[in-house]
Amino acid sequence: MRKKLFIGGEWVEASHVQDLYSPFDGQKIAEIPLATIQEVDAAIDTAKKNKKVMKKMPAHERADILDNVARLIAQNREECARIIATEAAKPIQTARGEVARTIMTYKFASEEARRLPTEVVNMDAAPGGENRTSYTRREPTGIVAAITPFNFPMNLVAHKLGPAIASGNPVVLKPASQTPLSAYFIADIFDKAGLPKGALNVVTGKGSTIGDALVTDERIGVITFTGSPEVGIGIRNKAGLKKVTLELGSNSAVIIDKDVDIDGMVERLVQGAFAFQGQVCISVQRIYVHESKKRELLKKMKETLKKWVIGDPLDDATQLSALISESEKNRVLSWIQEAVDQGARIVTGGEEEGMIIKPTVLENVDSSMKVSCGEVFGPVVIVDTFDDWQQAIDLVNDSDYGLQAGVYTNNMKHAFTASEELEVGGVMINDFPTFRVDHMPYGGVKQSGTGREGIKYAIEEMTEIKLVCFNHN
Ligand code: NAP
Repeated sequence: MRKKLFIGGEWVEASHVQDLYSPFDGQKIAEIPLATIQEVDAAIDTAKKNKKVMKKMPAHERADILDNVARLIAQNREECARIIATEAAKPIQTARGEVARTIMTYKFASEEARRLPTEVVNMDAAPGGENRTSYTRREPTGIVAAITPFNFPMNLVAHKLGPAIASGNPVVLKPASQTPLSAYFIADIFDKAGLPKGALNVVTGKGSTIGDALVTDERIGVITFTGSPEVGIGIRNKAGLKKVTLELGSNSAVIIDKDVDIDGMVERLVQGAFAFQGQVCISVQRIYVHESKKRELLKKMKETLKKWVIGDPLDDATQLSALISESEKNRVLSWIQEAVDQGARIVTGGEEEGMIIKPTVLENVDSSMKVSCGEVFGPVVIVDTFDDWQQAIDLVNDSDYGLQAGVYTNNMKHAFTASEELEVGGVMINDFPTFRVDHMPYGGVKQSGTGREGIKYAIEEMTEIKLVCFNHN
């Protein structure tokens, strides 16, 4: 139950620990190390000693380690799902889905390790470049500092460790304080998978202290951060010349055209809005439906939600459970209340039950209300209407964020206009914005961040291009 830091491939007793509680029932589930600045320093130091080891490791060995990681997770998939469900209150079925994706992420990382991109550059395209052979190499930038959020404690860690190890970088990982158990479990798996000791280090503790120590340390070459815009912007401001990838929040929108069949999409929309209590960076938060379809959509969403099973995350039937913390629950409730006070109508939900907020659908919402323009990151979706396609696109773009958007239409012209004009990192035509598979380029614009994940793309962010030029003369 008492966890240790993972530094230099050893489990190190920390000088300070703090209790970790289940978000669902408040039961104590573990004691977690609170790393000191000295312990973070030791983790960076051991990662630094492994820079050469990792850089010189042949691609097939890096690929084999990542393959082993995928295999070991698959062998322990139920235990992984239970860890996620317990520490994050993620319904176990959803947690199993996350584990399946984590396995795929490491498999993609293993494949990418074998084919780091290289390019032959035709130097004689420029006068003076004759008689030269030139090519690029991708070299690890290292050390990678990986800072991860609570909502996908295994797969979002995989999106950082996978590409880092695939491209020969040592890593210091700092997972979210609420979800450290997944990270420590994965550290053990990397150890068993044959990763050199010290190439991966895991430190836990308060983001504002140890996160800061990582972000400002001169030995770190790359910061890969997934989390809230406030923290991300702070990191960018302190990072100096380090490479920084920021995968931040959003208030993702979906447009539903007048010609589409509501029955065919309503289950998926509800899933996109309420899976893991809406605590997903691409969860459906804003639905813009053609005026003629609004009543039908609301009625069917309400009917679907009546069947949703709410309760214990470890119960197989549960679809929606507790929010990650009391303060987050209170924040989301206050945003709902603010909207209602300003004229919004609750179609369904709005109430709390213990640590749970019932799935909430709102209409008559103004775009200035927090439930529309902020990132709710809770089980709340707003439904608004449009008459004209351009108006729908403008409504989606009227946001500080831009991660992904969904568009349901059978009109080709509308689909192409949306794909060109929506200000987001990814447009899903005839699907919800919540769609993601783990090798696709993924990331946002505006306050949703900079840089891309999806193993191949993350590798670009974690490596430097070196040019080699042979003079034949
Ligand atoms: P968060 O509060 O920003 O925390 C993310 C991580 O940053 C945690 O490990 C946190 O540590 C650490 N941290 C906090 N303060 C720090 C500082 N000053 N310096 C360095 N690190 C610091 O986010 P969260 O609540 O865990 O996650 C929710 C957010 O993540 C939402 O905005 C969501 O949209 C976003 N998200 C984005 C994506 C994407 O791919 N775009 C995916 C998932 C989630 P502590 O836990 O110790 O505070």
